Amino acid sequence: MDKFQVKYSTGQTSRLYDAEASFYPHKITLNYLDENGILCTVDWEKEKINSTRYGASFNNSLTYGDFPFQTINADETFFKALKTAFPQLAATDSTAVLIKKKTWQTIFLSLILVAIFTASCYFYFIPALADNLAQTIPYEYEEMLGEQVYDRNMAAFNFDINEEKTKLVNEYFKNLHIADGKTVHITVVDYDEANAFAMPGGYIVLFSGLLDQMRHHEELAGVLAHEYAHVHYRHSLRSMARSLANYAVISLIIGDVSGLAGIIVENADNVRSLQYSRQLEVEADNYAFDALDSQGISPQGIIWLFESLSAAHEKNDVQISVPEFLSTHPDTQKRIENIETQLKENPKKYPNNERLQRSWKVIKAEGK
Ligand SMILES: [Zn+2]
Repeated sequence: MDKFQVKYSTGQTSRLYDAEASFYPHKITLNYLDENGILCTVDWEKEKINSTRYGASFNNSLTYGDFPFQTINADETFFKALKTAFPQLAATDSTAVLIKKKTWQTIFLSLILVAIFTASCYFYFIPALADNLAQTIPYEYEEMLGEQVYDRNMAAFNFDINEEKTKLVNEYFKNLHIADGKTVHITVVDYDEANAFAMPGGYIVLFSGLLDQMRHHEELAGVLAHEYAHVHYRHSLRSMARSLANYAVISLIIGDVSGLAGIIVENADNVRSLQYSRQLEVEADNYAFDALDSQGISPQGIIWLFESLSAAHEKNDVQISVPEFLSTHPDTQKRIENIETQLKENPKKYPNNERLQRSWKVIKAEGK
């Protein structure tokens, strides 16, 4: 009978014994000398040999019994003999290894798919769904929410409303004739920051600091048309819905709906620093361009305003925070180019609008 030199571990200690393995019809017998020089004999019954590790390149080892496993480390000749001695075991073992390998591959692939799915839900599907849902909300509800958001913001920042300018700018806006049915409430606040932003429900806030920066009435037309575009597309509500959607889902999952209410209120106070994606800003710029152009008002004002704001911002960025109008700041140059390209493609002489000019002069003179 052939004997094979193997390394044997009892599984009780990390010690490896030099052993001789012999194959019998239903067992493998191992003979080795223990640390006291006593000859020991161990029989491995065929049925208890662990098949899962056999046949693969797992360190050429074979285990036996229950945990802690006895182990044999052996070379190729031993495993060839094993295959000859117990062909049945070898066959099932290889399959077992294959199945096990496949199982791991499947689990791994499934985990990756679950991760991709979860990430897509989190970053794409849930926000997109929320965006779509937001657009189905009747405008009256958006106005009700907008009123609350407006009140909270006014109170939170303790803004001083300039009643006279508010009245005049609302009149100016009406004379632009660019609103398409949505009610607009413009408020001018005395605040030395060049900013303007639109809240849900057509609530637009314009800081006096921005009016002070303007030299032409077309700039006012530009910023109002741009902010109105956000109202028209419901960007504010939709952006709130998008950013809240994941919180909402998580809150529903963990059953903490009171937390959700807190988040909505918290976000309502943040509309001033609300940032839209570059895509939404360009969408608003394009809408403003078309709206002004169709009313015979030069969209050049958008460019003038961009230029004066970014110059002021670069010169003095400690005092002037990034205005909503420039919220995709690094892209300002691209947005200017976008309007310039459209002006070039559509060369036109825009008539002087006496009514808006007069209105503009009164706004500028007010409070001086
Ligand atoms: Zn904007």
